[in-house]
Amino acid sequence: MTQDIILQTESLTRDFNGFRAVDSVSLSVRRGHIHAIIGPNGAGKTTFFNLLTNFIRPSAGKVMYEGVNITARSSADIANLGIVRSFQISAVFPHLTLLQNIRIALQKRAGKGLNFWSSKRILNQFDDQAMQILALVRLESLHDKLAVEIAYGQKRALELATTIALDPKLVLLDEPTQGMGHEDVEHIMELVRQVAQNRTVVMVEHNMKVVAGISDQITVLARGKELASGTYSDVSRNEAVIEAYMGR
Ligand code: ADP
Repeated sequence: MTQDIILQTESLTRDFNGFRAVDSVSLSVRRGHIHAIIGPNGAGKTTFFNLLTNFIRPSAGKVMYEGVNITARSSADIANLGIVRSFQISAVFPHLTLLQNIRIALQKRAGKGLNFWSSKRILNQFDDQAMQILALVRLESLHDKLAVEIAYGQKRALELATTIALDPKLVLLDEPTQGMGHEDVEHIMELVRQVAQNRTVVMVEHNMKVVAGISDQITVLARGKELASGTYSDVSRNEAVIEAYMGR
């Protein structure tokens, strides 16, 4: 089943006052893959990512998800279809505990059936599940701390835990290891692998160790265009890719 395509862009393009930041990018993301978008500064990675969820509008081209055209859909629609973007506007509530944060995500996923009057038994069930998710990201012992009180790397782990709780089909990660020390990077790599179990991940990432370590597929952008796609060993040996990185 890993061969089928969950997300596809068709000639996706974005101009800013005559400057083409993303230039006719057509890429396919396979279901179950971790697909990394890399490229030198100014390559158009952030713009491309923003186009995927209609955070900014394309000048031309399409975004297809599960065969449906989602190019002009609202963020709410896109979320309802099973796409979650992490680290964009932080999904974490700083003045709630870690447990409460995860519980909210679980309740959100459970949908309309829940309200203020829901039985204690149901709410307790969410707490049990929330503790399991916190254990998965090794934040179990901090469950009653406020999110604002924990360290930066732990916050990022909490964001990934929230994503796991929401259980989307497709996760978009914006530089998951940005600003992290070596140990946190290792931990986040492990968590991204967790997040990617039974789902698809598209990520923008600068750290080549992370890209090499966890990506199934890599697309290299340069000057708004797709320069190459393939496995890490494919793209790292590609002359045009080497030149794009060395030339700056
Ligand atoms: P990357 O994430 O790969 O570093 P970006 O997508 O941020 O690249 O930017 C690609 C190009 O588009 C850059 O030259 C940048 O200056 C330009 N750009 C991005 N956003 C805007 C904007 N809102 N207005 C004008 N130019 C922009």
